Amino acid sequence: MSARIDLHTHSNESDGTDTPLELLNKVAEAEIDRFALTDHDSIAGWQQIKDLVPSGIELVIGAEVSCQTVDALSVHMLGFLFDPENKALIDSMNETRGNRITRMERIVGRLQEAGIDISVEDVYAEVSEGATIGRPHLADAMIRKGIVRERGEAFERFLHNRSKFYIPDASPTPEEAIRLIKEAGGVAVIAHPFASLRGRIISSDYLESLIDAGLDGIEIHHRDHSEGERDQLLALVRRYALLVTGGSDYHGKGKVNRLGENLTELSQWEKISERATGYTKGA
Ligand code: AMP
Ligand code: ZN
Ligand code: FE
Ligand code: FE
Repeated sequence: MSARIDLHTHSNESDGTDTPLELLNKVAEAEIDRFALTDHDSIAGWQQIKDLVPSGIELVIGAEVSCQTVDALSVHMLGFLFDPENKALIDSMNETRGNRITRMERIVGRLQEAGIDISVEDVYAEVSEGATIGRPHLADAMIRKGIVRERGEAFERFLHNRSKFYIPDASPTPEEAIRLIKEAGGVAVIAHPFASLRGRIISSDYLESLIDAGLDGIEIHHRDHSEGERDQLLALVRRYALLVTGGSDYHGKGKVNRLGENLTELSQWEKISERATGYTKGA
């Protein structure tokens, strides 16, 4: 029996383009039997579909927590199986969502100063109500205005992490995110840590310091990791006996990533669910 487990997906409760229900239908079509909805800084999508999941599919509660190092590097921390009512974690994600609005206003301001015809209202028009706002929505607004043709082009020309328009989002440090996730009974897995094509990445030394801080695992199987980056990470996993996950990072039409294109091994999933104490329904 093969298990198809995709532990990294997004809905339009953050910057994916499918509603959570559409995502659920596509998961069924893709013959995935377990998936985590890991919207940026939000569990709103999980709340919408948790009671609608058909038999044969398991929905894992998750989130991709935005973090920033003291050197202003962006880090994404996946949390799985935490308590959805843990106040500290939920409050922190709510605060980050609020900060993302101010940050968006500043990025748009920089674009305007450069003479680009875009407003915050244009961006808000692309965000579903209550969703976590991010650069992909700004990209969508640029598409609608005819400035670019697709999200990828917007990132290449204006929105990438090394761009003069880029501003990191104000969010907890990775160490804080690990603590918040684990104190909520969850499991903390760093997302695509060595994906160098996205921009500046953390060093191996820093990653090892996060392991000291309680990091449970590493998302290795992700399209943005090269073979060499996967090998480096596998060496760390062996040295420190860490968990390994994989996921598609599916964003609907917003990215080429296809559901199930990267998967998590069943044995790794079993370790995650054994370790978690926050959300134990169905365990
Ligand atoms: P933000 O959360 O505002 O920092 O934006 C980061 C999001 O943009 C991540 O979810 C990425 O998946 C998405 N992203 C980054 N690069 C691209 C790209 N080239 N095309 C589409 N989406 C991208
Ligand atoms: Zn995203
Ligand atoms: Fe990410
Ligand atoms: Fe993601």
